[in-house]
Amino acid sequence: MRNVSPDAAALLAVLVEQRAADFSDRFYRTLLEDDKAVAFVTHEAVDARLHSSFKRWITHLFTRLDVADVPNLLTEQRHIGIVHARLAIPIELVLRASRHMKEVVLEAILLQPSRYRARFESAILAMGLIDVAMEIMSAQYASSHDSATRTDEAYRNYAATMNMSLEREYQRTALSDWSSRLLQDVMIGGIDVPLSPISQSPFGLWLRHKGPAIFTGPSELDAIRNCLETIDSRYLPAIEDSLSREDTVGIRRATRLVMTEIEQARHLLDALFDHMVRMESGSDALTHLLNRRFLPSVLGREINLARSKGITFSVLLLDIDHFKAINDRFGHDTGDRTLQQVAQTLGRMTGSGDFLFRYGGEEFLIVCAEFDAHRAGLLAERIRKEIERQPIDLMDQPPISVTVSIGVATYDGHPDYQRLIHYADQALYHAKSTGRNRTVDFSALPDKSVPA
Ligand code: GH3
Ligand code: MG
Ligand code: MG
Repeated sequence: MRNVSPDAAALLAVLVEQRAADFSDRFYRTLLEDDKAVAFVTHEAVDARLHSSFKRWITHLFTRLDVADVPNLLTEQRHIGIVHARLAIPIELVLRASRHMKEVVLEAILLQPSRYRARFESAILAMGLIDVAMEIMSAQYASSHDSATRTDEAYRNYAATMNMSLEREYQRTALSDWSSRLLQDVMIGGIDVPLSPISQSPFGLWLRHKGPAIFTGPSELDAIRNCLETIDSRYLPAIEDSLSREDTVGIRRATRLVMTEIEQARHLLDALFDHMVRMESGSDALTHLLNRRFLPSVLGREINLARSKGITFSVLLLDIDHFKAINDRFGHDTGDRTLQQVAQTLGRMTGSGDFLFRYGGEEFLIVCAEFDAHRAGLLAERIRKEIERQPIDLMDQPPISVTVSIGVATYDGHPDYQRLIHYADQALYHAKSTGRNRTVDFSALPDKSVPA
């Protein structure tokens, strides 16, 4: 960084090597003094992990003083901010702990056997570095926290899709308005009045600007655009041409073609909104299970409930075995149908308090409210056997059968939901690597790995 003298840099390097543990002690002592922190940090966690994470953090901060190190340092601070937001650690606790820790750092610098100039310079530098790190963390915390709140909001609006229904009606009306206007112009307008293109109508504008913002991806959007383009580039000129020649048959024919395109656009618009309403309302379009973007809200809430009521819950991560082979042998439609039927089976086998997610392509995640590891293991086995037993009905082909592998993990008091998923994932991985079509409980794994 700018103008760091070698003496000051050397002092900080020595300081952090000798005293990082004391800085960490001071930081976590402040945190643990606060009752609010109990939910996020325990003495055991500090001893087991946080102490060494902290030492790594402050060592990086005080020793990577080169300009080239800045991007990595920034990323590291942002990452910490994201983790804090995920755990919903009150930001003021972190700032307070940092303030107390800074006092210890300052004292340690002043006591170093260096020249006054070097101590002065490194004191300023150290305080500045810690403050900047806290600033970046807080900024990231705030934006992560905001977006988590927004997802939460969307989840709460689950099924309350009033706005989308309204939007759908507006756009259907806008489409009709344009076509009535066209009919009017064709019937009573003069031959020299140009017909107004649909791409310039309110519907056309909506499609161009709002469409891509609300609907990310669906192909219906492109198809509607094509309808509009066909109207503007082919049929309107054809009508104008027929009008100028007073060719009534031609006018009728071209107008009818426009109406067919409009009808088509209306169907597509409905499909688009149906798709959207399901996405918005939190469910996956193919299986109608919950979309994984609501996983943080659901797990966050379950963790709070478990913590406040002293109950537990489990997650099952389920992956269809050799699913790619089904797609390869029978086609993508059969693959889709398989996913739908597995989803239906899961729906039948789980209770009303459980949450069913489509976690990935052929992966499902079930949050089993108030299930301890034992019950979760039993449920997982029942599901596994039922899927193995129940053939997939393919209508036009003989039924096929599939199996699944399941990883089970149970809430262990840790506030980070990602850790729970990570555990279930490890268990699932184990189930896959030991032969598939089986259930593995994370707690029974011989070599567990704990995420950093
Ligand atoms: P494993 O037993 O190890 O899980 O093998 P696998 O073949 O099930 O796993 P892999 O991850 O190799 O393949 C998953 C396949 O799922 C690849 C992808 O094309 C397919 N897939 C993902 N989403 C969908 C979907 O929505 N529909 C269909 N038909 N296939 C999908
Ligand atoms: Mg998979
Ligand atoms: Mg699979």
